[in-house]
Amino acid sequence: MNLEHLNALKKLLSSSKKIAIIPHKNPDGDAIGSTLALWHYLINCGHTASIVSPNDYPKFLKWMPGADKILNFEKENMQAKSCIQNADIVFTLDFNHLGRVGHMSETLESSSATFVMVDHHQEPSDYAKIMYSDVSMSSTCEMVYVLIKKLGDENSITSEMANCIYTGIMTDTGSFKFAATTSNTHRVIADLMDKGAKGTEIHHRIYDTNSPSRLHLLGCALKNMVILQEYQTAYITLSQEELDKYNYQKGDTEGFVNYGLTLDGIRFAVIFIENKEEGIFKISFRSVGDFSVNDFARKHFHGGGHTNAAGGKSDYSIEETITYFTSLLPLYKNQLQS
Ligand code: 5GP
Ligand code: MN
Repeated sequence: MNLEHLNALKKLLSSSKKIAIIPHKNPDGDAIGSTLALWHYLINCGHTASIVSPNDYPKFLKWMPGADKILNFEKENMQAKSCIQNADIVFTLDFNHLGRVGHMSETLESSSATFVMVDHHQEPSDYAKIMYSDVSMSSTCEMVYVLIKKLGDENSITSEMANCIYTGIMTDTGSFKFAATTSNTHRVIADLMDKGAKGTEIHHRIYDTNSPSRLHLLGCALKNMVILQEYQTAYITLSQEELDKYNYQKGDTEGFVNYGLTLDGIRFAVIFIENKEEGIFKISFRSVGDFSVNDFARKHFHGGGHTNAAGGKSDYSIEETITYFTSLLPLYKNQLQS
């Protein structure tokens, strides 16, 4: 964050403010962890703050300290709306353009608050007056830690905040495995442990609380996997019928896409998941190495993200979507094989 924006933020927070904190739609561990950590920080500083999530989020994140206070824009619409409308400051965390909040974007666009973006996705748009955008960061949670440190309040990081920040760093780095995990990330993690983050407990709460039906759904996804060795690509499809058969709950498909990359020689993994209610297939893209799934998702599937992890969507049938997807692969043959 450059000094000008940091000073502007310091000035803004120097008196008590009404603040709305917003994660992206279908928030993940990083979005929930970063918004909660910031919320604890701002409340402790004497501000009035609320987190407004565009929609619900997975059960395996609901243990996080403060999670019971998060407003759901879909379910608590009036209260959520008035929070945004009355806010002096709107923090948007873990996303880079307002389209990422779905139907909530209209309410945000009509707000007269000062917008502050904290985010690590590529090609941020310019809706925020104060921007902290750094694509080299492992996670927005790591950025919230750095931000609090830059504001001179490192010592005010509580164990609640430490547990929230640890969670988001852990989930966004695939448990400290992805390329964006730096020595600084590990130093932040070490500090967080000193401040009370319980790493083993967090791993258990996130990864070892499966339901049997989720594992059966994973079995179905793995059976559906198609391997295109020529393009070092593996993709999975899950239809609404299959999701219903295995009693799909929000968050159940989290991480499924990564199984493609565990195959020897596979560098590009994709999952297409039907959402009948929205009439779309939600798509997750993952890669290893230089092949940019951010570019791929942005160019062909109305999406974006990071070089090695991105998302997008398709409004077409699964047959049409797969035909289109496979027709694109020859265009990237050189990149996928390099
Ligand atoms: P996931 O595949 O886990 O949903 O998302 C992977 C990454 O891409 C995350 O950082 C997420 O924020 C981003 N992402 C997911 N879906 C979209 C999308 O539709 N548009 C954009 N711009 N980014 C997305
Ligand atoms: Mn993130």
